[in-house]
Amino acid sequence: MRKPIIAANWKMHKSMNEARDYARAFLPLVVDETEVEIIICPAYTDLAVLQAELPGSSVQLGAQNLFWEASGAYTGEISALMLLDSGCKYVIIGHSERRHMMGESDANINRKIKAALDNSLLPIFCVGETLPERQNNRAREVVKEQIKKGLHEISLASAGIVIAYEPVWAIGTGINASADDAQEMIEFIRAQLTILYGEQLAQSIGILYGGSVKAQNIADFMAKKDIDGALVGGASLNPNEFAGIVRLGRDV
Ligand code: PEP
Repeated sequence: MRKPIIAANWKMHKSMNEARDYARAFLPLVVDETEVEIIICPAYTDLAVLQAELPGSSVQLGAQNLFWEASGAYTGEISALMLLDSGCKYVIIGHSERRHMMGESDANINRKIKAALDNSLLPIFCVGETLPERQNNRAREVVKEQIKKGLHEISLASAGIVIAYEPVWAIGTGINASADDAQEMIEFIRAQLTILYGEQLAQSIGILYGGSVKAQNIADFMAKKDIDGALVGGASLNPNEFAGIVRLGRDV
């Protein structure tokens, strides 16, 4: 039985004061939500604030990126050890905004996933096709390739990774994939994981949908057999709205 996961990606939003106010508003709303793994992935500057606010709650901390080296002359980068030190359990890797705006390659995503796993950080590995790729019936081929390259030479002994299927055209656009389309792709992703890791492990890996998830549509996604949760951007920025998504996601 896979535990539902609802993860917030705050992207480049929230000052330290705003992060503190958010935590103080949000945590009381989710005290009873122990059946759901709730994750907040804030900006780096907010990690220490949340590290101080989250103890005593079941909410977990995640980062939005990392660099694969442990330390050194890598201006502007952050290591897995630094994220662990900041209280992170998870790290988003390969988000489409990084793939498309920062030119992040599959090879580098692969190095980042390895660095995370080597340091016992759980990667939330994002995959997803663009609109032209979907329109040209290439969505499966693209996602298959991202999985193959992202997980190249990565052996998993347990379900130490989370996958997020995030069609690029659905991110931040208000246009979500239909629950049926998301289920179809996520079932396909699980089939790819089965080829790589065998049935038992593939069945234990959490696979999320991301792309314009909100309170009005979370239940539709969570009702699908292969969809284990959601990665939520815009709708996670308001504590009441995000708590509503957690509650509605758990109720299904
Ligand atoms: C995301 O950033 O991963 C995301 C899914 O954003 P949004 O929910 O705003 O579409």
